Amino acid sequence: MDIGRQAVAPPFTGERAGCPKRMVFGPCGGVRDGGGCEMAEHPCVFLDPPLPHWTAAVRTAPAPVPGSLLDSAGAGPVVLADLSVRPFDAGSLRRVVQVLAPVSDGLLAGEHQNRPDFPPTMLAAEVLAAGGRPWTTLACRDRNRQVLEQELAGLAALGVDGVLCVTGDGRGPGVRPGVSSVFDLDGTRLTALATEAGLTAAVPESPDSPPQALRPARVAEKQRAGAQLCVLNHVGNPQRLTRFVAVARAAGATIPFLAAVAVYTDERSARVLQRFPGLHLDDAAVERVLSAPDPVAAGIAAAVAEARALLAIPGVVGVNLSGLASDRGEETAAAVKADVAVRVKDEVA
Ligand code: SF4
Repeated sequence: MDIGRQAVAPPFTGERAGCPKRMVFGPCGGVRDGGGCEMAEHPCVFLDPPLPHWTAAVRTAPAPVPGSLLDSAGAGPVVLADLSVRPFDAGSLRRVVQVLAPVSDGLLAGEHQNRPDFPPTMLAAEVLAAGGRPWTTLACRDRNRQVLEQELAGLAALGVDGVLCVTGDGRGPGVRPGVSSVFDLDGTRLTALATEAGLTAAVPESPDSPPQALRPARVAEKQRAGAQLCVLNHVGNPQRLTRFVAVARAAGATIPFLAAVAVYTDERSARVLQRFPGLHLDDAAVERVLSAPDPVAAGIAAAVAEARALLAIPGVVGVNLSGLASDRGEETAAAVKADVAVRVKDEVA
């Protein structure tokens, strides 16, 4: 494999003037309600059509890894669980994987702007060693193109089930002053590189973020770049997600969708999700959980109910259990997500 010389040429230039993330295939998922840029005091420069169109050829997407979440999708609801672990702590990672791996189809390692961790390839190797099936998030924020290519080559050599290719949310004000943000690429162009590397590429999308009318067609553009799975951000209600998937299908997207299920059982795990740009929770449901006599049981029940509603949407083949789940440590949080995963598999199948 020599992805450094596999030019996916035309769309690697043409960054939209004024985009702090130097995106060609914007908008990012962090556009503020009202259309403001996530990272600067001006409107997002991708609010108006036309949407950037993927025109370059890419290698045919590889077949799903046997037994992977994508391979299993369609035979019943699949569950991708976010890995929330103590950073730079292989023991914490192993303990969380051992709780979640037996009850989920894939484990999603994130890339957080304010919480760095081991390099993605090393995290994936640890997940595999602990018996899990990793889906690894790669963000363009923290790595230049060469380092992204190195990680892709490493992940391909490991044989991970998939890579979630994201542009990455901006580093917050005051977070690691002196650490630059790179953005040589955006998530769509990274998707093409991942596919060129022989990896199964997944992409995110944020249906509720402006410009909402343009976002369904972004899924089709990402599919043209090589994406085989779309992992959606939280949406305020299932009706909106139903409309989003239908419009994406009409725009030419045929790939399956995973819908985000918010897992929270206390104040902190709920508020963290509510603060995230591009992410919309049902506020009434959050308050019902937090004011319940047993918020843990209520949070688990709310997550299962949300999963049930989302899995009824045509095109949605599974759920992504996301969020902190609990403020009482990573292993307690993993146990909460595992409980949700088991109930989703048992009750919704
Ligand atoms: S909101 Fe995102 S895509 Fe839009 S201009 Fe800002 S950084 Fe770029």
